Amino acid sequence: MTQGPVLIVGAGHAGFQVAASLRQHGFGGRIALINDEAHLPYQRPPLSKAYLKGTGGPDSLMFRPDKFYRDQNIELITDRAIAIDRGARKLDLASASSLDYGHLVLATGARNRLLDIPNANLPDVRYLRILDDSEDLRRRIASSKHVVVIGAGFIGLEFAATARIKGLEVDVVELASRVMARAVTAEVSEYFQGRHRAAGIRIHLGVQVTGIEADGGKVTGVSFSDGRHIAADLVVVGVGVLPNVELAADAGLPVASGIIVNEQLLTADPNISAIGDCALFESPRFGGSLRLESVQNATDHARCVAARLTGDAKTYDGQPWFWSDQGDDKLQIAGLTTGYDQVVMRGDPAQKAFSAFCYKAGRLVGIESINRAGDHMFGRRLFGMDRSIEPAQAADPGFDLKSALA
Ligand SMILES: Cc1cc2nc3c(=O)[nH]c(=O)nc-3n(C[C@H](O)[C@H](O)[C@H](O)COP(=O)(O)OP(=O)(O)OC[C@H]3O[C@@H](n4cnc5c(N)ncnc54)[C@H](O)[C@@H]3O)c2cc1C
Repeated sequence: MTQGPVLIVGAGHAGFQVAASLRQHGFGGRIALINDEAHLPYQRPPLSKAYLKGTGGPDSLMFRPDKFYRDQNIELITDRAIAIDRGARKLDLASASSLDYGHLVLATGARNRLLDIPNANLPDVRYLRILDDSEDLRRRIASSKHVVVIGAGFIGLEFAATARIKGLEVDVVELASRVMARAVTAEVSEYFQGRHRAAGIRIHLGVQVTGIEADGGKVTGVSFSDGRHIAADLVVVGVGVLPNVELAADAGLPVASGIIVNEQLLTADPNISAIGDCALFESPRFGGSLRLESVQNATDHARCVAARLTGDAKTYDGQPWFWSDQGDDKLQIAGLTTGYDQVVMRGDPAQKAFSAFCYKAGRLVGIESINRAGDHMFGRRLFGMDRSIEPAQAADPGFDLKSALA
């Protein structure tokens, strides 16, 4: 059991959960959650989904009301952590104060990758990561006519679908040859391309935005690498994120495409862990280093670290899963759908309900489900039991998936 204060930098999904789980596990020492956003800890996924569409206030996003933090004696500190003195076990904050720690948890998340083209810093060029971004985009959706979305990843497409539902003209520009290319199978990309196009969204694949045109500081359009121009009064950029590793790197901790942690999520310093979007963790299950950007990863990491700090050290062995809501469609992913060599379809895209079962060397490694929550839940349970089913079984509509869980 860790003695002394636990300081947590970042109060996103990972930071909040580690604080809550520490108390659940009976940790009685000081817990301080340091965050540079002036909100109670809140959920991020609705920012590009229900919250963007709706009229509810920020309270609807909060994990817990402020009473929870008082009752649980979890200190919320709105400040920015700027340096770690590992020798003295002190964390320096931007407000010039410094805090002692027994254990430090880095849950610093990720920030948007910024566009580096002319006029990219104009006020009508927006990103979507934090609550303030979503609030701002809600207002802009109401006052804009034509948005160009740069990047057809999850967030770009979720935003595009909402903007279209709200009546905007929408163009999506993507450098790759299909949408969500790094994350899903070609079958699922094709389905979503069709659905978004049917909703009236124009999707431009294999092109790059080379410039943003403006008049008097207001965006008027964008130009493409193929010479085309598209009129627009709003540009939304979703071209990926960069993990916030600088605090760790400046303290001399090893970083690569994330803060490097071992299979127990511990950095090279036994008094510092790193979790969630910022952590590049060693995964015996998947045989290598992984950095994932999902709520499941953040919260399961947090639970693993809270357990270790209260005397129950284990190898992190979370089962990845993810979801994305785009228009009327719900995409759910169980497992890791990378590195597969065979895709087996179950269900019917024409019926708007199907799953892509992804196999690697004959073993099921992931399932991408569209409007088939049963397949998704099956996948999560199956992977939790370390089992697989044969490709022929997955393809056979008469095969009862539940029988594989018995
Ligand atoms: C719009 C949007 C939609 C998403 N939708 C989904 C979805 O549908 N499903 C899904 O699984 N995942 C989704 N994600 C991803 C998911 O939200 C992230 O994986 C998750 O938030 C990661 O949690 P985290 O705590 O690691 O990091 P974050 O949530 O990024 O939190 C880190 C916090 O630390 C703060 N911070 C960083 N550095 C410092 C510092 N030095 N001092 C103080 N504070 C600091 C940051 O400001 C931030 O508030 C979505 C993300 C976004 C942005």
